[in-house]
Amino acid sequence: MIIRTLSVASAVLLVSLGFAPDSQAQERSFTEVGENLYWVQNNNHHAMVLVGTDGVILVDPIGGDFAQWVRGEIQQRFGVPVRYVAYSHHHDDHASGGAAFNDTATFVGHENMLGYLEMPPAGTALPAAAAALDANGDGQLQRGETSGDYEELFELYDDDGDGAINGAEATRGPFSDVRAPDIVFKDRMTLTVGGAEAELIHVGRMAHSNDMTAVVFPEQSVVFVVDFISLNRLPFQTMASGQLNAWLNAIRVVEALDVDIVAPSHGLLGTQEDVAAHRHYIEELRDEVAAGIARGASLTELQDEIQMAAYQDWISYNNWRTLNIEGMYRMLTQ
Ligand SMILES: [Zn+2]
Repeated sequence: MIIRTLSVASAVLLVSLGFAPDSQAQERSFTEVGENLYWVQNNNHHAMVLVGTDGVILVDPIGGDFAQWVRGEIQQRFGVPVRYVAYSHHHDDHASGGAAFNDTATFVGHENMLGYLEMPPAGTALPAAAAALDANGDGQLQRGETSGDYEELFELYDDDGDGAINGAEATRGPFSDVRAPDIVFKDRMTLTVGGAEAELIHVGRMAHSNDMTAVVFPEQSVVFVVDFISLNRLPFQTMASGQLNAWLNAIRVVEALDVDIVAPSHGLLGTQEDVAAHRHYIEELRDEVAAGIARGASLTELQDEIQMAAYQDWISYNNWRTLNIEGMYRMLTQ
């Protein structure tokens, strides 16, 4: 397991330094983190596979290509079908592609996931960021007008496939390949398949998203966490979603769990010590940015001054430190 973890670490590090493998060369692997429990890599993302005697629980299908690949791997390695697809949260880069399991699986997610997937009424106006790109002023984005996420995720936004992102589609988000849950839960739900057990725990609203779910595998003493905790890696870019105190509270929910191994979707396998380190990073960043705001420093000054040097070995320190400062500055001033 240690050797495998090191090779995952170097793959993640290469990507963070900008040597991303080309789109054909996918970094995919199964790492056994407990009996019948696997941390499954798709480049910088991870899913979980729990194997029971007559079926599998998959947490996060990640995307259409990965879902097809992992379906084949599960069939070949274990010879049993996926009985449940459980969602950490609704974001497309974790929740897309589940339809690959429509024939065998029941889909489970937090009740707040449903609202995110609902299409707003026809005639909804483009949100401001999209309206700014609407060069011909027709109220929707043709492909040639897009940039950023709208360009990269065009098909996932364009739910009706008419070649343009309308106001409702832009407002909802890039979720057309997210298969909605059949069963939702409020606080906790236990899934069992062939003697194997997974417990879904809602970690609170506004913790990255309102539907954020940690998944505990009690027999293996493992918890899977996505996006609101990454281990040995900085929080993603400007940490744009969620609310600071709700985020910290959600991390404390995980810290209170009695588990030995923490398997994050992003970053390295770790323990509760690494979860605490992730929280300390956020708290130290908060305190430094707050002190700077209090003495009237500008964002640019803070981006020069605040080094967070204790964390310079973490993945994406060089790329995301100043973006993290920007995100914290916004959280504390808006
Ligand atoms: Zn997310």
